[in-house]
Amino acid sequence: MKTLYFITGSQDLYGEDTLRQVAVDSKEMAGFLNENLKGASVLWQPTVRSGEEAEDLLVRASSDKNCIGVIVWMHTFSPAKMWIKGLQKLCKPLLHLHTQFNRALPYKTIDMDFMNLNQSAHGDREFGFICTRLGLPREVVAGYYKNESVKKRINRFADVARAIDYSHNLRVAMFGNNMRDVAVTDGDRVESEIRYGWNVNYYGIGELVELANGVTEEEISAKLSEYHEKYEMNTDCSESVEEQAKYEVALDKFIAAERIGAFTDTFQDLYGLKQLPGIAVQNIMAKGIGFGPEGDYKTSALMAVLCKMAEGRNGATAFLEDYTYDLTEGEELELASHMLEVSPVFAADKPKIEVHHLGIGGKEPPARLVFDGIAGKGIAVSMVDMGTHFRLICADIELIKQPKEMPKLPVARVMWKILPDFASGTEQWIYAGGAHHAVISTALDVEDIRLYAKLTDTELVCIGF
Ligand code: MN
Repeated sequence: MKTLYFITGSQDLYGEDTLRQVAVDSKEMAGFLNENLKGASVLWQPTVRSGEEAEDLLVRASSDKNCIGVIVWMHTFSPAKMWIKGLQKLCKPLLHLHTQFNRALPYKTIDMDFMNLNQSAHGDREFGFICTRLGLPREVVAGYYKNESVKKRINRFADVARAIDYSHNLRVAMFGNNMRDVAVTDGDRVESEIRYGWNVNYYGIGELVELANGVTEEEISAKLSEYHEKYEMNTDCSESVEEQAKYEVALDKFIAAERIGAFTDTFQDLYGLKQLPGIAVQNIMAKGIGFGPEGDYKTSALMAVLCKMAEGRNGATAFLEDYTYDLTEGEELELASHMLEVSPVFAADKPKIEVHHLGIGGKEPPARLVFDGIAGKGIAVSMVDMGTHFRLICADIELIKQPKEMPKLPVARVMWKILPDFASGTEQWIYAGGAHHAVISTALDVEDIRLYAKLTDTELVCIGF
């Protein structure tokens, strides 16, 4: 499990006894947080008493590959000039926990020694000032550390920090390039690596074709048994399903060999493939591998990052495309889908494997999973490249059970209402430049995205209540 360093600030001024007590108290706090955190373990660190110790520790946190972030609080006063050089070298997410060891004030016994030992109110303001002066993006959480609300926010920080760490090492493969002439799915891949760590590279579809040609009958039948177990077979075209199983085995091999966490393809570049990958991509997406169609590397990478953030939570997270509407006045609904690639994490019931003609791409009819979507509160998150910077757009949505059957629609679909209402939500999305591709999540909420945007210094437009 990845770790968060728990760092306590103090200084030498107070003498041995005080520092001993600081160590005892901070160990207890770190232990409590460790037991109450789901997404990372908390590792207590010796009290920081000087500039040298601060720098050594924050450099160590920055270079420790297992460390995804630091939690810092001041038990006593800790003059903040001593934190400058360390903070300048810190390259991990920072949570400034403004709390204290005691919950209530001991009115009857409080004396000067107690006040010197327990002065977070004083020390954390000094530390906060230097973080602000240095312009550090960070999360400040104030409150008693055992409060549910505080634990919840530290847990959120752990999830977001884990996602940022994952993002830093994320390798994205593009089979083919961006769909010709499409603007919003394109972007600055160098800037994506500078800001988010995404290493985005082009691969010829021929590499996948070669892998697919090498897939054995045994590998195909193993994949088919997986399909039979998870899904309902609703087609006689077993050849088409076998073809998709072959693609998925090939993709699995490629993903493992190239250590890929997210990928894209495009129907305009399928040379050597008989079908556009359908169920192959759908089944892979359900494992938390990012996917973006039409060369949309930003959505693909963002999906992988948000799936990592959502790990351990209930709910579904994956890419979807805005497709069409029901504009019945006052009851407007959106129907989101894609030409094939909708993740089965959104399925309300067991998905059906079907084979239908696909009008785009000029290839054979591909097997795909067809299902109705789940209901529940969610968010839609889109990332666009504004030329000078990236922008995230996050909208509150309510996924709903589709009101009527759609017996002729040959693809999976999810329906939702955008909040606060169709006109205002959709207009804001369009003004903000939000794409027609987004990552939808019922596991995350806008506060997760707000924290992610803050810690990665990304512009964010929120749409909702
Ligand atoms: Mn699309």
